[in-house]
Amino acid sequence: MELPGTADIVIIGGGVMGASAAYHLAQRGLNDVVLLEREEFFGAGATGRCAGGVRYQFSTEINVRLSLASLPMIERFRDEIGHDVSYRHCGYLFVATNEKDVAAFRRNVELQNRLGVPTQLLSGDEVRARLPLMRFADALAGTHNQKDGLADPNSVVMGYISAARRSGVKAVSRAEVTGIRLKGNKVEAVETTQGSIETRLVLNAAGPWASQIGQMAGVHIPIVPCRRQMFTTTPMPEIPEDFPFVIDFAQSLYFHREGAGLLIGMSNIREKPGYDQSVDDDFELTNMEAAAARLPVIAGAGRVAHWAGLYEVTPDAHPIFGGTPVDGFYIVGGFSGHGFMHGPIAGKLMAEFILDGSFSTVDVSPLDLARFGEGRLVHEYNVV
Ligand SMILES: Cc1cc2nc3c(=O)[nH]c(=O)nc-3n(C[C@H](O)[C@H](O)[C@H](O)COP(=O)(O)OP(=O)(O)OC[C@H]3O[C@@H](n4cnc5c(N)ncnc54)[C@H](O)[C@@H]3O)c2cc1C
Repeated sequence: MELPGTADIVIIGGGVMGASAAYHLAQRGLNDVVLLEREEFFGAGATGRCAGGVRYQFSTEINVRLSLASLPMIERFRDEIGHDVSYRHCGYLFVATNEKDVAAFRRNVELQNRLGVPTQLLSGDEVRARLPLMRFADALAGTHNQKDGLADPNSVVMGYISAARRSGVKAVSRAEVTGIRLKGNKVEAVETTQGSIETRLVLNAAGPWASQIGQMAGVHIPIVPCRRQMFTTTPMPEIPEDFPFVIDFAQSLYFHREGAGLLIGMSNIREKPGYDQSVDDDFELTNMEAAAARLPVIAGAGRVAHWAGLYEVTPDAHPIFGGTPVDGFYIVGGFSGHGFMHGPIAGKLMAEFILDGSFSTVDVSPLDLARFGEGRLVHEYNVV
């Protein structure tokens, strides 16, 4: 598709944030929207590499409220957008193996219950009874919510992009943004490998690359890329249909059903910030050993696929929503490893902010860019 010379707004990044924002802006009547993605396919960044987990179980009110708004949008996706996104309510089961995490889990369950999320606190014995194939002799407690689960990230991205296109949005792939032209303190144009577009509004939805886009406009965006990886296994008939999304919290080690096998991942706490998306073979071995210690039947399975992607990490593990010191330059990003599930509501909130000047569906105004300079950080405990 040829790039238009002008647009009311240019969105940079064709992952879940950019796609959702484009759709929601068009829904609100702003149709002269151009969405730019540098890769051949939309969703080729963090979104297409993610585990697809969706959950209500967070430790801060604002994240629970984002889930309360966003997950029903994923449930309604087929009716509203016309795409099946395979939402499965397999439940998330967080397992605590130390007293510090048990205390945090108790507080989290109280908070979630107060906000209307029916998460249950489980004893160590209840965890073991729920997971008979797993070795969790050290489990002290668990938290479980059946409405947490999984959905398909690529279907969400393509659903939003197709629906946005039907409303007139121009979504262009293989268009890399190389610069942002300012006039004084205002956005004037976006430069790309396919030409430039004059515009007064730019939404930076570049995920792990958001700080690079910020630099083009002279704005410091404290989002750091950090590699995370996972692998899938051959079919494992021993794993029951109702096997939940299990998270061994202290090790950041997780398992969920993927087809007839499992998807297994683990966060490498020693990973240095960077854009490398190749699989670290040494760490994969560490991950496999940790997984086999928890779930010995894995020894009989083979690896089918493995890949790595980038978390987009902020100093307080909360996203950034809203304006920047440059007029017309907006940011939505930095979801720190749980942005797929919050993508639907995030795009809607950005459409509200850009068109109305405020957020109405969920008040995310505390999650502005200015908070980092002003020391107003909001820490999230349930980071996997
Ligand atoms: C291994 C892994 C597992 C995860 N698991 C989960 C999970 O279970 N649940 C969950 O909710 N979240 C999960 N996440 C996090 C989730 O994937 C992200 O929070 C979310 O996808 C971020 O979406 P985004 O649109 O901001 O970024 P992206 O999807 O990365 O989109 C940004 C896009 O911008 C494009 N871009 C960058 N620079 C330019 C440029 N100069 N010009 C044009 N385009 C550009 C990129 O190519 C990219 O497609 C996981 C992430 C990883 C890496």
